[in-house]
Amino acid sequence: MALLLEVRNLKTHYRLGGWLSGRRVLRAVDGVDLTLNSQQTLAVVGESGSGKTTLGRTILRLVEPTEGKIVLDGQDISRFSQARLRPLRRRMQIVFQHPYASLNPRKRVGRIVAQPLRVHRVPGDHRRQVGELLERVGLPASAANHYPHEFSGGQRQRIAIARALALRPDLIVLDEITSGLDVTVKLRVLALLNELQADFRLAYLFISHDLAVVRTVSDRVAVMYLGRIVEESPTPAIFERPLHPYTQVLKASIPEPAARGSWNPPVLVGDAPSPVNVPSGCRFHPRCPLAQAICREVEPELRELAPGRRVACHLAEA
Ligand code: SF4
Repeated sequence: MALLLEVRNLKTHYRLGGWLSGRRVLRAVDGVDLTLNSQQTLAVVGESGSGKTTLGRTILRLVEPTEGKIVLDGQDISRFSQARLRPLRRRMQIVFQHPYASLNPRKRVGRIVAQPLRVHRVPGDHRRQVGELLERVGLPASAANHYPHEFSGGQRQRIAIARALALRPDLIVLDEITSGLDVTVKLRVLALLNELQADFRLAYLFISHDLAVVRTVSDRVAVMYLGRIVEESPTPAIFERPLHPYTQVLKASIPEPAARGSWNPPVLVGDAPSPVNVPSGCRFHPRCPLAQAICREVEPELRELAPGRRVACHLAEA
């Protein structure tokens, strides 16, 4: 598969306002490197506050990067003006976490799904195209005549997916799109995404806190902690043998079928530190059961320990 997206040393920092905050900086994304091939799925996982949502939005230039490169199909778009970005927006779409908030309640579904077609002046019969998109995501074409509140959460997420597909993008950022859905609805949405990926030749950046979901949908997994990637690996390898202590805890918190009933998930010590006060050295050291003196002083590089496996830990071995 061809390389579609390359991100190098990407940073998204916010200078905090107000006299109480002084000159403090919130480092939401703090030096991320990643790649995504066309028609593949890269999952970005991490706790709430790890920076994964900001990362997804920065890649799409919905949030301005502070530093670094975002290379889409060979073009560095990180400093493109909004006018120059406009034609590229067709190629990069997003589906947000809350279908309730992301669909305008005052517009009929037909207008919502047709909006990107109108904005980008796509020729042809928009009514027919919207009907086809709705049917492709498992809704009747007649759904176009109704309002978002007439649909369930899973159906609204299908409407949001239909809108994201309207411009035939190459890349869709899926930001926690199954959180809040019950298990059976979630599985159906994941199956739909799988079918659409093959039919529309899509690459997904799949942002989630749910490692169990990620296991079923992704080719590769990048684990994010406090603004940085700490482990990146093909999906089967990361579940078989996670190498970073943080990934090991995340993986151990997924209940195995045989262990249900007596299962006590491991918990991390303490809350995740604030991205305003990033710890020295390895940023995971205050919570890491294996931390040593070097971990408090030297930030570990993301090293390639095996083909396709990169880990940021002084002690990790392949
Ligand atoms: Fe733990 Fe040290 Fe590895 Fe960080 S570098 S994850 S603190 S062992």
